This record gives sequence, C-alpha cells and structure tokens, in this order.
Amino acid sequence: MTIQHIAALGTYLPPWGTATARAVNRDEDVVTLAVAAGLSALTGVDLAEVRKVVLVSRDLPLLEGGNSAPLLAGLGLPGNVLVREAIGSGPATLSELGDASAGTLVIGADLAPAGAAAAFVGAGGASVRTVDRVNRSMPIVTRDGRGSTTEYADPRLLRVRGINASIDRLDLSQPIIAAAGLSAKDAASFCQGTPPAPPTTGASAPLFALASLLESNRHGRLVAVEQGAAVLSELLSGTAPVIRDERPAAPLPKGTPAPGASISIALPSYDRNFDAKTRLEAAKCRTCGALIYPHRFRCPQCGSEGPCDTVALPREAVIYSMSTIRGQVPGLVSPYSLVIAELGDSGVRLLVGTTGVAAGSMKIGDTGRLVFRLVAARSGILDYGYGFLPSPNLALTTEVSA
Ligand SMILES: [Zn+2]
Repeated sequence: MTIQHIAALGTYLPPWGTATARAVNRDEDVVTLAVAAGLSALTGVDLAEVRKVVLVSRDLPLLEGGNSAPLLAGLGLPGNVLVREAIGSGPATLSELGDASAGTLVIGADLAPAGAAAAFVGAGGASVRTVDRVNRSMPIVTRDGRGSTTEYADPRLLRVRGINASIDRLDLSQPIIAAAGLSAKDAASFCQGTPPAPPTTGASAPLFALASLLESNRHGRLVAVEQGAAVLSELLSGTAPVIRDERPAAPLPKGTPAPGASISIALPSYDRNFDAKTRLEAAKCRTCGALIYPHRFRCPQCGSEGPCDTVALPREAVIYSMSTIRGQVPGLVSPYSLVIAELGDSGVRLLVGTTGVAAGSMKIGDTGRLVFRLVAARSGILDYGYGFLPSPNLALTTEVSA
C-alpha cells in the first residue's frame, strides 16, 4: 500500500467535562469540533495547498447534506474545495489517512467522549502507511427507521468475538505500539511498551495516538478498532509539528432551559447572511474604504452603491460591552452572556455569545478571540457563527518533536 506524509497534525478538546472524558456544550457539535482541530493542523499551512477535506465521524449533525459549507467556512477554505463526509470511527480515519493524496486534510471528530484531531497530508513530513485491514460484521448498535437505537451489550462477547477476533486477523508480525478505540487496559494488553492514551475512542482516536507518537518521536505500528473492523497502520519515519488546542477541563456549567418554542428561522435571511456569518467577512467600500459588516447594498458611510471588496475580519477581539441574561427566554438556556466584541483594529464590533467559560465570568476589556460555534438550532436548522472565547490560557501549545 502507498506511503503518505503527515505534514502537520492538530488536535482540539472542548474545555468541558473531566480530565478523561471531555463533553460538548450546546454550542459545539462535530462540525465545530472539526473546524477547531482542522485550524490547529493548518496553523502553518498555506491554505491554497488544501485541495480536499475528509471528515470522519459517527456523529455528523446532518445526515442529508449541509455540513460541508459551514466546515469550509469555519476553516477559511474556499467553497470549491472538495469535502467528503465519511460515517465511521477510528478504522475509517486510519484508512482515509492511508489513502489520502497530498493536499488532503483528514479530520476525525467525536461527541462522546468529545474531541477532534486532524492530519494534513503533504509532500513531506512523517511517513505513514496502511499495513492491513479487517472488515467483519459485528453490529452492536442498531438504528431503526425512526432513529431510535438499540444496543447489544454483552461485554464478554464483544471482547472475545469483537476486538480480540478482529485484531487476531491482522498482520501481527511486528509489535503494536499504539491502539485506538480500546480501553486503556485492553490497549496495554495489545501493545508493546506504554501506549498513548487518546482522550477519545472514536474517529479522532487514532489521530490523537499519532500526535502522541510524533511528540515522543516514536515510530511503529498502531491499530484502530471498532466493533468488527480494524485497521493496522505504521508510522514509518520522519516528524511533523503537532499543534494542540487543548485547555484544562472544567465541569459543564449548569443551565436552566426555559419552556417554549425557540425563535423560528427565516431561510431567505439565513441564506443571505450565511457567508458573512460563517466566514466572518466584511465588505470594503471601494469608494471610501469603509468596512461594512454585514455587507449592505449601499455603503452606510458614503452612500456609494458601487462594488465592494471582500475582506476577512480579524479573529482577535476585546470585550467592548457585555451583559449576562439570567431571566428565562423561551427556547434558550440561562444564564448566558452576550458581548459586543471589537475585532482587532478593524473598527468592526460584533454582538456574539460567549463560549468556553461560565456565563458572567468576564469583564469589559478582556481579550480573546472569535471561534466557530453552533449559535442556535432554529426550526431544526443548524445556525453556525462565532462565539467569544476569552484568552486567559489561550495560547496554543506548539510542540515539534526533534
Ligand atoms: Zn463607502
């Protein structure tokens, strides 16, 4: 099988949950997790090099299309980049990585435990290849036509006839040094030495394992298992930067949902504002140079109805004004905080919700950045935009193994 090169690897963990199992709040889903991990991986990458994005998950928010546009917008990639959504877990992610051509961003994202990781495949970096693959049928969770699931939970059978039988069929001629999709105890029993402990067990788990291997400069074979499927890959040689966007975990804030219907969506308005909202792009008046956000037909500064250029707004932000809402708002969970965020030196101010911290824990003048979030689900339609993430421990840690 062919050899691919991981040029960069990025991870993201939501700031909620426990040290061993992260959780998402209401403003995060697989698309926002994937965006965060993808942006980590693309930190030093020329975006023009990205030709394809593959998102692997079992928790895709929309199964009937519609995830690609917000994914590309959040990543800052043009709308003509090819996106493939793959329903699967760790074995699918490793397979996609082993089959990816240069210019592909492979992302695995999971909701429980929550986390996402992404690998950018380039012309050089850490070389990896798929060694072997097992596709057996061991359906332990079934879903009927109405979407309700039934779990067939017999741990002993799943271990003996599932994991063990799948791994036994792989090419085990060389030792395994990392495992994804297994408990720490099972991973230790299959691996030589101390295996990495990925914070997830699903589609992102093998990429988290690869991140740990790259950081500790270890090379060798890793396995990803899910039910009856297993994929064996080998990290052959070389190195790649690992960029982690991982804050310490805090308990998920408690909130009280208010009864009543949420505000319904107006699709024409949703459609008109989609790019401005998800790409955070302003129009720049060619006549007077004013930044107009969101874009309007007529420049509010000089009245020109002439053409405008599209410019990306800065993500760095300062709280200009803020308010915490503790009363009950139908369809919403309170308390929640709203801020008017001033974006860099653009002069543009934006009203956004806060994310990553408990409501009411910020003050005017605090710095942070705008991050891609699920703003609301209206009439069942997911509405993506940005939230303000304060910066106390904002710094991304960049670690490049020697
Ligand atoms: Zn103007």
